[in-house]
This record gives sequence, C-alpha cells and structure tokens, in this order.
Amino acid sequence: MDLSDRLEPVLAVARESAHQVDTEASFPADAVAALRSSGLLGLCLSEEVGGLGAGPQDLFEVTSSLAGACGSTAMIYLMHVSAAMTVAAAPPPGLPDLLPALATGDMLASLAFSEAGSRSHFWAPISKSRHNGAGVILDAGKSWVTSAGHADVYVVSTLNADADTVDIFAVPADTTGVSVSGDWRGMGFRGNASNPMHFAVEVPESHRIGPAGGGFDLMLQTVMPWFNLGNASVSIGLSQAAVDAAIRHTSAARLEHLDQSLSALPTIRAQLSKMSIDLACTRSYVEQSAGRLAQPADDTVLHVLSVKAAANDAALRITDAAMRVCGGAAFSKHLQVDRYFRDARAGSVMAPTADALYDFYGKAITGQPVFG
Ligand SMILES: Cc1cc2nc3c(=O)[nH]c(=O)nc-3n(C[C@H](O)[C@H](O)[C@H](O)COP(=O)(O)OP(=O)(O)OC[C@H]3O[C@@H](n4cnc5c(N)ncnc54)[C@H](O)[C@@H]3O)c2cc1C
Repeated sequence: MDLSDRLEPVLAVARESAHQVDTEASFPADAVAALRSSGLLGLCLSEEVGGLGAGPQDLFEVTSSLAGACGSTAMIYLMHVSAAMTVAAAPPPGLPDLLPALATGDMLASLAFSEAGSRSHFWAPISKSRHNGAGVILDAGKSWVTSAGHADVYVVSTLNADADTVDIFAVPADTTGVSVSGDWRGMGFRGNASNPMHFAVEVPESHRIGPAGGGFDLMLQTVMPWFNLGNASVSIGLSQAAVDAAIRHTSAARLEHLDQSLSALPTIRAQLSKMSIDLACTRSYVEQSAGRLAQPADDTVLHVLSVKAAANDAALRITDAAMRVCGGAAFSKHLQVDRYFRDARAGSVMAPTADALYDFYGKAITGQPVFG
C-alpha cells in the first residue's frame, strides 16, 4: 500500500472533525484512531520493528498534509513520531515490546520535556531523578505535554541529581504516579490536550532511553532533527491551507457596485502573490532540509537549526496576510483562516523557539559554541 492510500482516509476524518476539535478544544479521537489503524504512526520506524521504513521527505509529506486538514492532529502525530524516533535511537531494554507497539499504532507516544523552571529550554530539565537501589525515582512536573492523558507512553526528561546530567525515560501511562495535573485551553492547536503533567514515579533503570547521562545528546541528535523538520512541515501545511483559503475567498467575494471580485483589486493580488511566493520559497527550503536529514552533509546541522525558525516565521507572515486579505470574513469560522492563523502561532512558540534557533544558528555560522 502506498503512502497516499494510508493517508487519504486519515485526512478525510481529520478534515471532518477539525472545526469541532478547534471549537470545543476536544482531542481529535477519531483522527487519532484513523492514524493508529493507518500504519502511519510507524512511518519512519524500520520495517524490522513493524514500521514503514520511510524517511524525512515522507515525514514532510504526511505531516504537512495532516496540518492542512487539522493542525491539532498534525501536532499530536508529530509528538508521537518525535518520541518514537527517540525510542528507536536507543530502545530501553526493559520495554522490549515498546518499539513494535509504537510502530503498529498500538501505542501513542508523546514527549514530556518542558518544565516551568527552564521554560522553553527543554534541553535543561530542572526536575531531579534519584537512584534508590532498585530503580529510579522521578519527580518531574512538566508544563505542557501534547496528548496528555491520551498517550500510552511518555518520553520524559529529567536531571540525574547524582551526576548533574540529563536522562530520558520511557514511562508507560499506566505507571503509578503519572497524572495530568492541570487544564490547558490554548489559542492554537486547541485539540491537542497539551496539559501539564506530573510524573511522581519509580521506574527500573532499564526504562532509560540510551546510556546514563545520554539525554542531552539524544535531544540534539534525534529529537531536534525530527521535531524541527516535522514542526516546519506543520507550518507549511498551515500556510498552504491559508493561501488556498485566501485565494478561494478573494476570488469568490464580490464588489457588486464595481462588478469585480476582491482578488481583482491590485493590493489584494499583490498580497496573494507575496504569500504564494513566500510559501513556495519556504517549502523548497523545508524540502531541502528533509533531504539533508535523509543524506547528511556538512550543512545538515545548519538545516536542523534553521528549518523550524524559517517555516514558523513564514507561517506567521502568511497566515497574517490571509487574515488581512480576507478582511472581516476571516473572523468568521466558515473560512477557517483564523484557525490556521492561531495554529501557526502555537507551532512557533513550541521549543526550540525561532528566536532561540536564530541565536544558535548565529553562533554556528560565527564559529561560537552553539550550546556554550
Ligand atoms: C500547543 C503547545 C504544545 C506543546 N507541547 C509540548 C509537548 O508535547 N512537550 C513538551 O515538552 N513541551 C510542549 N510545549 C511547550 C513548548 O515546547 C515550550 O516549552 C513552551 O511553549 C515555551 O513557553 P514559555 O512561556 O516557557 O517560553 P519562554 O521560554 O518563557 O520564552 C519566552 C520568549 O523568550 C524567548 N527566548 C527564550 N530563550 C531564548 C534564547 N535562548 N534566545 C532567544 N530568545 C529566547 C522565546 O523565543 C520567547 O519569545 C507545548 C507548547 C504549546 C504552546
């Protein structure tokens, strides 16, 4: 079965429920169920573990298409893929069935990194873990976890208090001490249940992903490349949807006293052109970045650092312009332009934020240590 055969049924369900998911801030359960049965949750996992063995370019295609249908579903999907790729990089020996379950869609995963103390600096958890002989005691408050209360397993970062290094653990949702600790009503991605969570759990050492103290490297080498590319892909999907909606609306809306459409106004046409060109340029850059992840080159790190910032900022510009050209109609839910606008903003504040990425990129091109 090719990817579009798997994707189309999911898109149909996601499109159908997107408006309701956004309005009610409800988790897109039907779209996630469709994703589970489509096989796409295992998109980039190897065929050996039951995945589809696809690569970064396919992630771009699938995630951008999902975002055009329902931004919340796309972000839930991306957090699953990012968590699954982290598990795949160093499968925890104590959970031998985890990777196949993530690949086949039996288990939905998410990343639980951000904490109130270190805010968007997700690579620097403040919460501490301690060894107690038998296992590891985690006491981690996480400020936003996409799919909170809906995922089957959480990939949780923590500071090893004994070594002052970062560890990442796979924590199944049914572990005693896992709780959703608050409510979240967002402006964008309103359906993705990004509630705060608390992990007051004891887990065996064998649930650790990678070696002791290996969490920071995993974040840089695995989480950032997949998440940044996927988040950029979401921005492209939202931007495309906004451009399409703006062209549709301004072409159909009439100025009857002038006997012309809105799009016949030169200013509107110019705005539509700028949006389309901005989208085309950014799409090319994201595709190029996907290629650099698939076949690493000298500038792959620069692409990892820049792709999310570039696509997020383009999505902010493009969705803002869509609101502008659609005028008062953009405030009506029937165009859905407001949803793309709000979702684009939510995607851009997700860490690493564009401003942090520009700072890192600037350090990289001037020969300064990026995380120094
Ligand atoms: C919809 C949504 C879903 C989310 N899902 C998850 C999830 O599943 N898992 C998870 O772990 N987290 C998640 N998050 C959290 C997210 O990744 C960020 O950690 C969070 O949005 C940061 O918000 P803050 O207020 O703490 O930002 P702050 O860190 O307070 O940032 C405020 C401003 O400071 C700027 N800034 C910060 N550091 C730097 C720097 N070094 N250089 C330049 N500028 C800087 C930022 O760019 C921003 O403009 C989610 C957030 C949202 C909104």
